[in-house]
Amino acid sequence: MSAVLVVNSGSSSFKYQLIDVDSRMPLASGLVERIGDPSTSSGTMGVAKHKVHFAASGDGSPTVTDATYVQELPIPDHAVGFAVMLDAFETHGPSLSEAPPVAVGHRVVHGGARFFEPTLITPLVEINIDELSVLAPLHNPGALQGIRAARAAFPELPHVAVFDTAFHQTLPPAAYTYAIDRELAEQHRIRRYGFHGTSHKFVSEAAAGFLGRPLEELKQIVFHLGNGASVTAIDGGRSVETSMGMTPLEGLVMGTRSGDIDPAVLFHLARRASLSIDDLDALLNKRSGILGLSGVGDMRDVEAGVDAGDPDATLAFEVYLHRLRAYAGSYLAQLGGVDVISFTAGVGENSARVRAGALDTLGFAGIEIDAARNEARGPGIRVISTDSSAVTVLVVPTNEELEIALQTLTVAAG
Ligand code: AMP
Repeated sequence: MSAVLVVNSGSSSFKYQLIDVDSRMPLASGLVERIGDPSTSSGTMGVAKHKVHFAASGDGSPTVTDATYVQELPIPDHAVGFAVMLDAFETHGPSLSEAPPVAVGHRVVHGGARFFEPTLITPLVEINIDELSVLAPLHNPGALQGIRAARAAFPELPHVAVFDTAFHQTLPPAAYTYAIDRELAEQHRIRRYGFHGTSHKFVSEAAAGFLGRPLEELKQIVFHLGNGASVTAIDGGRSVETSMGMTPLEGLVMGTRSGDIDPAVLFHLARRASLSIDDLDALLNKRSGILGLSGVGDMRDVEAGVDAGDPDATLAFEVYLHRLRAYAGSYLAQLGGVDVISFTAGVGENSARVRAGALDTLGFAGIEIDAARNEARGPGIRVISTDSSAVTVLVVPTNEELEIALQTLTVAAG
């Protein structure tokens, strides 16, 4: 059995999953959060949750346990967080000292134009990820803290960085270039990079596999609709257009992010409302999107508000769908037609109403959703288009951790 430990680290928390790559199943997973000094005024106790998915039964065969263990304790930094995680593996299983993983895979949000494939982490790669923090100040520093703590905890294992931007390195210049002064843009590396690439790759490949059709032949649109949301046009397995830009702020309306907005709104607010750069950053990243419009950031609450006749929730939902339709139409035009449209992530996998609303004006393009299939729930990949639809519409559960584990193994295996 070869297991890969997948780590997704932010500045004050990290998630992990130990994945058996042969069975593609998670053996254990967990979350260490509220990392920081508890003695400071803003400090709180850290929380570590460890869940064991499978345990060996008496005869050695795996049985499902899904037991969760939670502890509260001071976790001043990522290194302590990793020690707590290792301890949880030893206490509750599976023991990493008895059966160590073959490699550790790290999710890194921003790989800039430098990293276009999963990369074995060396001190030089660490320096490059650090340097890319200029482009992703909210994400890369946390990933780097996780990488350093994990490398200290597992010095003998290969560590691999898997970048959210990597899948979009195939974007053509026309799609990634902003129409601004070229010299300034080059100097500051301003261009579109795209994000959620691990998910878009996983979903587009899973969709092709499910349909039993060669990836190279398919034109696909993937809607990754979670708290963050993006859509990608994929031609023959290559990302050719995506909605997120230099940062994950551009594009669709999201849980708390505005997505596309006239940049002059920012000049106006700076001049007229005296908002600082940091205020504007927080406004568009943390207090906009469906939260800014409706007061709630979770799509389930928005839908409940729509049902209750709440006008703010109704407008938020309509703005959300309007943007989805605009991108669907744009990507149909960019691709010159489409064979498969997939929905994934929290909203995409769960909200029949969002899926129907995103595509309901596209009957003229041969896109027909079957209402009953769309409403039906179930695990795995499922078709929600009618049998006569020219375009196949799917719900595809994403699995970024598995994709990171598989890519990590490819690099680690050499
Ligand atoms: P993710 O970022 O992929 O974990 O997605 C999280 C988001 O999915 C939540 O904030 C919800 O808005 C949304 N979500 C989860 N379950 C549902 C559901 N049953 N209906 C609508 N939205 C959902």
